[in-house]
Amino acid sequence: MKNPSQEAFITLLNRTKSQGKIAIAAGCVPQSEPTLKDLENCSVVGITNIGRIAEVLEEAIKGNTVQLLEREELPKLALPKIRRNKWIEILPLSTGCLGQCTFCKTRQARGTLISYEPEEIVNRAKQVVEEGVTELWMTSEDVGTYGRDIGKSFPELCWQVLSVLKPHNILKLGMTNPPYILEHMKEMAVLLNHPQIYSHLHIPVQTGSNKVLEGMVREYVIEDFNKLCDYLLENVPDITLATDIICGFPGETEEDFEMTLNLVKKYHFDSVYISQFYPRPGTVAAAMKKIDTKIVKKRSTELTKLFESYTTYDKMLNTEQKVWITSIEVNKKNIENEKQEAMIGHTKNYVKVLIRQVDYNLIGKCVKVKITETSKWHIIGKVIATDNVIEEILPVAHYKKEFQKTEVNYRAKERFDKLKEELKQKDKVNQSEDKPDIEKKNYTRIILLIGAVLIVLGAFLIYMKT
Ligand code: SF4
Repeated sequence: MKNPSQEAFITLLNRTKSQGKIAIAAGCVPQSEPTLKDLENCSVVGITNIGRIAEVLEEAIKGNTVQLLEREELPKLALPKIRRNKWIEILPLSTGCLGQCTFCKTRQARGTLISYEPEEIVNRAKQVVEEGVTELWMTSEDVGTYGRDIGKSFPELCWQVLSVLKPHNILKLGMTNPPYILEHMKEMAVLLNHPQIYSHLHIPVQTGSNKVLEGMVREYVIEDFNKLCDYLLENVPDITLATDIICGFPGETEEDFEMTLNLVKKYHFDSVYISQFYPRPGTVAAAMKKIDTKIVKKRSTELTKLFESYTTYDKMLNTEQKVWITSIEVNKKNIENEKQEAMIGHTKNYVKVLIRQVDYNLIGKCVKVKITETSKWHIIGKVIATDNVIEEILPVAHYKKEFQKTEVNYRAKERFDKLKEELKQKDKVNQSEDKPDIEKKNYTRIILLIGAVLIVLGAFLIYMKT
């Protein structure tokens, strides 16, 4: 949660209030900063109290202001909801996280990890599949940490959810930081190859420099991130990877930034969410020495240019792809002043597809599409088949047996601690290398001082004699 999101939140809140409507604030912002001036005279619902929104609304209609921020149990997953897109269910797995990133405010708002029991998640998945949903998005601050607090794991949960899906359903896995998912790297590759999971992963790296990662307390080293990407790229055909990068974190030198550029050049990520460092009040990073804003802007422009300089979907031209269609997008009017509609879907590796021949009966379905154009941001295609597109889905045990369970695949924490130790030692060496210089300077000062005193004394004696 970075400051621009808070600003957008406050703008929306104030706009609603100025229109004379009832405004109820919920989520991370009021939870982490309940004393914000903009929240005055406004009802507030905390992260774990969302299940009581109806009560708060009733009070607000009567003109009362309610503040519900005390932490309660997680709200039930089966609460009634109106989906923004009726074909997509957003399935939260947990709240909070196990990280302690120095730039982040979410941790303060959401606290430590609290996971839903797998049974509750699976039951919800079963329910929404019956309701006709096509896609299920498994989300949390860091899906890789799912279940650590209750002795469960994310891959285990994925297998369980897969077992209740219908053949046309597909799962989208949410964002995961490198440290915990590394421990399941091999099993994750097997899952991402499953016909009902998009072969796509969002792994925020934030920087290409180990020194900056240490300042951010990200709990992995860049070699861990590389290892994860290399393994997935090698073992999940056509996988697409997204990442986040913060430009200008305190202490980031030109050399550090160069490492970030090199990382993007190396992996040519399909999506990169670039942000400029913003010190969120109350975070550890807010107390660190900021880099000049002009430099931060320059770096983010350079990174954006680099990202926009390459394309990743060209190889998909003229191929046939399975596409899960979930919405209609209405573009601006064309020259003849007609609205242009297109069906929007995603390929198995979660590349956005535009299909100009709109057929409302195909929304929520999986179809076969021939790709006719590609661009940096999406691809364009024509529907070539609507029946028998889905291959036979075998029982979960069939896909699972490809994964021979080994013990933990790879652990990041130890290497991060080693990095911290190495940087600490380096600091000590630098300080002790500086020490002789400081001592030398001090000696010189003392000698100069004694010299000056002697000269003054000599001059005084000569004066007395004369
Ligand atoms: S992992 Fe780090 S960035 Fe993500 S929510 Fe936790 S503290 Fe914030």
